[in-house]
Amino acid sequence: MKRKTEEIVSAIRNAGVVGSETLGLPSYIKLNGLADLVIANGSENEPLVHSEKALLRERPGLIIDGVKVAMEATGAKKGIIAIKSCDVDIVDSFRKLLKKEPLIGLYLLEDYYPVGDEHLLVYEITKKVVPQGGDPLDIGIVIDNALGFAQVYQGVHGKPVTERPVTVTGEVECPQVVWVPIGTPYEEVINIAGGTTLNCKDVVVLDGGPMKGKVISQLQEGIGKSTTAVLVLPKDHIVSKVKQKTLSQMVKENQGVSGESSKVADLCPRYQLGHDIYPDRAFMNIHFPESIRPSELESSLLCSGCSLCDYMGSEVSTFSPRLVYQGLRKELKKRGVSKPHMRQGIKVREGLKNNRVSTTYLRKRINVDHYEQDKMLIGEKKLPKVVRIPLLKHKGSPARPVVFEGQPVRMGDVVAFSPPSELGTTYHASITGKVGEVNEQWIEIFKGRSS
Ligand code: SF4
Repeated sequence: MKRKTEEIVSAIRNAGVVGSETLGLPSYIKLNGLADLVIANGSENEPLVHSEKALLRERPGLIIDGVKVAMEATGAKKGIIAIKSCDVDIVDSFRKLLKKEPLIGLYLLEDYYPVGDEHLLVYEITKKVVPQGGDPLDIGIVIDNALGFAQVYQGVHGKPVTERPVTVTGEVECPQVVWVPIGTPYEEVINIAGGTTLNCKDVVVLDGGPMKGKVISQLQEGIGKSTTAVLVLPKDHIVSKVKQKTLSQMVKENQGVSGESSKVADLCPRYQLGHDIYPDRAFMNIHFPESIRPSELESSLLCSGCSLCDYMGSEVSTFSPRLVYQGLRKELKKRGVSKPHMRQGIKVREGLKNNRVSTTYLRKRINVDHYEQDKMLIGEKKLPKVVRIPLLKHKGSPARPVVFEGQPVRMGDVVAFSPPSELGTTYHASITGKVGEVNEQWIEIFKGRSS
């Protein structure tokens, strides 16, 4: 068993599988331990994002096979595939396929945000609470996104991660899900969708959805392994404003304001799970930083960055506990603290169920409902003329390049990897061609023949 686990973990590390969450935690870490249960998270809970749904529709068998590999690696006796009940066609197809899989069940989820948060999902399915500051593996559960499991299966069969589905939507001519090589420049992804409907100067581009997405300022950069979406929004859109705001701007805007209502804490999923996180008190922290207690400082590490407090507080886009916590985390990093203390036996708060925010309401609240598509068009696979494979968009130490400018490479060749002794991942050429610029941020490859 141990040998089998080692073989699988090593194959997955070599294949560069990092899971599909924004953190980009390498999947080999999750599979390198004993577990009772494996959960494939097929909820794709960010509004407007449909990338994994495309996979769930097109390649359901691949996800089931990936779950089986994870069960084999961890010794888990049970697997669960979690899907929103509103994705009726996907539910039907898994129901049929899982009739042949007695050890893997289907769990249907309600359509609320952030149902896909790993801690929430584990509680929803098992009624077990992941320790504060801990990981689902601490209670014997392996959880990853559906795409992560598909890549796990492919990884143990020798196929490295070189491409992924990306939703390109918002102010583009033809919103769709595209399959593109890792490193495809954001500008190229937008071109595949017919370009922007507004002048380029008047839009903001996000890597990810409206809740957890981040503003991209250099559109020639390439998409990463965790890029779920490329979202184009007008500059004056509420989401653009929230995402562009800095901590110092927010502090200035809130001078003289005395506090935020407790509603913001009620809406925080991590607070409702019983964690020591109090977004309503974050307000005090920006005005009286000298009075922050060490425990308060550490609570910033419990924030998942879900952004509900940005949009659902009493004054949309005025005050952001998320931004305060981001600032406090930087402070903690300087002090060498990156993980909160683990706290076992926490009890969920009574408001957990009553404070759910339905995705439909959220889309309206943040004014993106008109961008939503019922079932998204899936575009053909596209090979761009150039890719810039990012080396920093994963959790752990940066991957170090092992290729040089002018070197011919074939799709699948290793181009960079993190040292085996450190947390990190491996990157592969996502197209065949010749290496262009190599720097700390990316490896550029121009399409062409490998010799
Ligand atoms: S972003 Fe806000 S709502 Fe979400 S976990 Fe952090 S503090 Fe809570």
